[in-house]
Amino acid sequence: MTPVVATTVDEWQRWRENHPGTLAFVPTMGALHPGHIALVRRAREIAEIVVVSIFVNPKQFGPAEDFDRYPRTLDADLSALEGLADLVFAPTSDEVYPADHPVEPVSAGPVGETFEGVSRPGHFDGMLTVVNRLFDIVNPDVAVFGEKDAQQVFLVRTLAARRGRPVIEVVPTQREEGGLALSSRNRYLSSDEHEAATVLSRALAAVRDRAGDGAVVARASGESVVASEPLARLDYLELVDPETFISVPDDFHGETIAVVAARLGSTRLIDTARLTIS
Ligand code: AMP
Repeated sequence: MTPVVATTVDEWQRWRENHPGTLAFVPTMGALHPGHIALVRRAREIAEIVVVSIFVNPKQFGPAEDFDRYPRTLDADLSALEGLADLVFAPTSDEVYPADHPVEPVSAGPVGETFEGVSRPGHFDGMLTVVNRLFDIVNPDVAVFGEKDAQQVFLVRTLAARRGRPVIEVVPTQREEGGLALSSRNRYLSSDEHEAATVLSRALAAVRDRAGDGAVVARASGESVVASEPLARLDYLELVDPETFISVPDDFHGETIAVVAARLGSTRLIDTARLTIS
């Protein structure tokens, strides 16, 4: 069945009154690909009602970023969600940020200023502000996020802990056969850049291969893979502590999250992997 579409908070609330049951929520910016669909399938497994939001949140884009050209493909998105989502919440900006009802801004704190936050100042404050607002509107039991956006997952977990709900469910990164993580931004890549973009997952594989040789060697091994790809410009490749999202010291041993960001032409891509440094 095609999902019901609600474009206003009132429409959503009226629908919810007649559709009780545990609710899993998948927030997205649309331009859905199989990575998003994996989140929705997981939502379907864990709750009675599945709600997907599609909202390109202006507050999480910087002035020089791709807000205007970000792909908007609502009809295709609704087809992709057939039989998977019960309702799609696709509000306008005025519904999310009403002029007569100031929305509480949420700060990401110091973690919001590292890694992605360095290249994208204010991005995580904007992301958390909209996620908090959507949680208020939808009031889910569980919200499903993709592991690919590791820093986002860390910050959303912190937000949910502060609020007391929802439970945060994380789904592994869905990839193309060559390893490139699926992303709505992959469509900006030329075919050469697309091929070169596998360098992110190849770098993470190199880090994993040398994880037994300590943090310094493992990180350097990943960096050298990115350096060997002429079309890629490394932004960062780091190993962070999953508890704090702070870079681990050189003599660290234990579980880490490897995070990488690189530019292919004008497109910035990120990827991540969990691994154990020994
Ligand atoms: P976005 O529409 O890019 O804001 O992403 C919406 C959700 O989909 C976020 O929780 C992302 O982490 C998740 N997501 C995006 N790409 C992937 C992927 N390749 N695999 C799994 N989840 C993803």
